[in-house]
Amino acid sequence: MNQKNGVVQLKFIGCGDAFGSNGRFNTCFHVTGQKANFLIDCGASSLIALKANQVRLNEIELILITHFHADHFGGIPFFMLDAQFFSKRTQPLVIAGPPGLPTWYERVMETSFPGSAQTRPRFDLSLIELSVEHTVRLAGVKITPFPVHHDNLGGPFFAYRLEVEGRIMAYTGDTEWTDTLIAVGRDADLFIAEAYFYEKKVKLHLDLATLIEHLPTIKPKRLILTHMSEDMLAHLSDVPYEAAADGKVVLLKR
Ligand SMILES: [Zn+2]
Ligand SMILES: [Zn+2]
Repeated sequence: MNQKNGVVQLKFIGCGDAFGSNGRFNTCFHVTGQKANFLIDCGASSLIALKANQVRLNEIELILITHFHADHFGGIPFFMLDAQFFSKRTQPLVIAGPPGLPTWYERVMETSFPGSAQTRPRFDLSLIELSVEHTVRLAGVKITPFPVHHDNLGGPFFAYRLEVEGRIMAYTGDTEWTDTLIAVGRDADLFIAEAYFYEKKVKLHLDLATLIEHLPTIKPKRLILTHMSEDMLAHLSDVPYEAAADGKVVLLKR
C-alpha cells in the first residue's frame, strides 16, 4: 500500500545472504511512497516473504535488480507465475537491471518452469537494461546504476543510487570495496551497505571493517547493514551500527 503525508518507506522483506544465514530471507526491499511502489531485488525466497508481509503484489510497478545471482533474482519466476495465475495481474510491470537482463530473464524462467519464458503474460512486461552511470526515471524513481566488483562471470553487477520523492536511497548490492561506492552513497538519506563479514577480507564481498574506514568520506545520513553472513551476525550486538532485519521498516520523512 502506498504512503500518506509525504513519507517514503523501505521495508526489508528479506535481508539475508544466499545461504539462509540465521534463517533470513534472500534480498528483497519494498519501497513505497506517495506514488512510488517498487522492489529492489527479488531473491529466490522473496515471493514467500512478500506474502508473509501481506504486500499487495499487483501494486508493485517496478522490480529493480542489482545482479543475476539467485539470492537477488531467483524469485522472478515465482513472482511472474503468481502474477499470471493467482494475483491475476493486469497492471504493467517493469523489471530493470544490468545489461543482459532479457537473456537472464529467459534463462531463469526456463530453468524454473520450462516453457514459461514463452508464455505471454496478460499484462505488459518491460525488461529494461540499464546503463552504467546513466540516470533514468522509471515508475517515478530516478535511478543511477554504478558498476561494482562481485564476480568475473554473470555481470555486470550494479549498485544503485535512487531518488524517490525527494529522498536519496543507495544500495551497494553485493560487492568487494570499490571507490565507486563513495559516489553511490555520498550524503544519502539512507545507505544500505553489504557487510558480509565482520573483518575478514574476501574477494567479491564487503566486510564491515573496510566499510567503516570509508564512512567518513561517504557520510551517509543513515547507514543500515545488510546481506550478513553468520560471522557478521554473531558480532551484531557489539557494533554501533544499525542493521537490517527481515520485516524492519525504515521511514524517510521530509
Ligand atoms: Zn547476494
Ligand atoms: Zn551475489
